[in-house]
Amino acid sequence: MNGDMDNDTNAGQAPQPEEQELRERVRAFLAEHDPAGTPRDQFASARFDAGLAAVHYPRGHGGLGLPRSLQAAAEEEFAKAGAAPLDPLRNVIGLGMAAPTIIAFGTEEQKRRWLRPLWTGEEVWCQLFSEPGAGSDLAGLATRAVRDGEDWVVNGQKVWTSLAHRARWGLLLARTDPDAPKHAGLSYFVVDMRAPGVEVRPLRQLTGEAEFNEVFLTDVRIPDSHRLGGVGEGWRVAQTTLMNERVSIGSSRSVPRETGGIGYAAAAWRAHPGRRTHDLHQRLLRLWAEAEVARLAGERLRQLLAAGEPGPEGSAAKLTFARLNQEISAWEVEFAGSDGLRYDDWTMRRPEFTDYGRGPVYRYLRSRGNSIEGGTSEIMRNIIAERVLGLPAEPRADTGVPWKDLPR
Ligand SMILES: Cc1cc2nc3c(=O)[nH]c(=O)nc-3n(C[C@H](O)[C@H](O)[C@H](O)COP(=O)(O)OP(=O)(O)OC[C@H]3O[C@@H](n4cnc5c(N)ncnc54)[C@H](O)[C@@H]3O)c2cc1C
Repeated sequence: MNGDMDNDTNAGQAPQPEEQELRERVRAFLAEHDPAGTPRDQFASARFDAGLAAVHYPRGHGGLGLPRSLQAAAEEEFAKAGAAPLDPLRNVIGLGMAAPTIIAFGTEEQKRRWLRPLWTGEEVWCQLFSEPGAGSDLAGLATRAVRDGEDWVVNGQKVWTSLAHRARWGLLLARTDPDAPKHAGLSYFVVDMRAPGVEVRPLRQLTGEAEFNEVFLTDVRIPDSHRLGGVGEGWRVAQTTLMNERVSIGSSRSVPRETGGIGYAAAAWRAHPGRRTHDLHQRLLRLWAEAEVARLAGERLRQLLAAGEPGPEGSAAKLTFARLNQEISAWEVEFAGSDGLRYDDWTMRRPEFTDYGRGPVYRYLRSRGNSIEGGTSEIMRNIIAERVLGLPAEPRADTGVPWKDLPR
């Protein structure tokens, strides 16, 4: 195991010159912007403009073009000065998926327009990919975009659109050439969720809440300047979004040992000695060890990420996250005994984020979706088998083309 596995900033070693320079830059920024005396939104905007939002973002667009691994050093300096940390839940699709896609494919103008309010949390984003007839087989989607002068006119229906009720912008994959082979006929747009013709209807889930929605698009006009990537290149752009989505779901940030689901389970174990059994003890130990392995594997994945864009390894993190969340929350409900049969509140709400801290039964119900959202566990296994392990590809029923030969 790598010696600095637990800490991106090489604890105990002298900082590298690049890191030292970054720390000094943050301190100089803090000398001019007192986090206690500056309103939160002004502080965030100034931080973005100083290139200290996310150091791997491009210069002039919230970053300094530095390796992603140096972000931890910047965060450390901000934390020491009492600045509020970035809340990744605030704009989970914006930060985790829209930003990397815009950075990879956006024009200078698009980066200037969208990255700043995305990072400050002023503008929330959603992802309009899935349709009633296209989920795992995303390239089979039917939403059409037809060119009309400087605009595209979009008609279709999207489904399972998380946060569409709060979003200002949506990442939209639509068919622009129905005659081309299906992966080649797609283009990628950014749609204004307030544009005429966009209708968002809540979809209530097992938890009682409606985190996601159906979105109906009727003659929605999107300026061509809101296209990300070339016409017909939508599938390639979407791969960047999807790979970042898996990492963002499975392993988005460094977390201390025993946090998340396993933290709740361990706390319950310590608080209720009377509920302990030998079998529950054995299972908790196994889950604890697996959660720790997943956490360390997540650290390693972030180191790989620091060197470039996420690869199919993100699928393994996503697969493990889903399995462990479901097994750990099932353990928690069983350990709770008769209390595990009670649910706190089934009120219909349209939440701003997924609150796993709500309680064991909520966690149990919500984690059912973990093996579906962001690509199902079966699809993750296909990707790992073919693109990581190099096993022979299974021809896809729809095209006869193996996964590995599809454009990425
Ligand atoms: C909580 C939640 C939030 C979501 N948020 C969003 C969002 O914001 N935006 C968005 O666009 N979508 C979102 N989704 C949708 C999600 O991406 C899709 O549900 C998912 O990709 C699966 O598609 P599907 O539901 O059409 O199932 P299908 O693709 O119809 O799959 C049905 C079953 O068949 C299996 N299967 C399909 N193809 C294969 C294959 N080739 N090999 C083996 N098994 C296969 C699947 O694993 C699954 O078990 C969300 C879903 C959930 C649960």
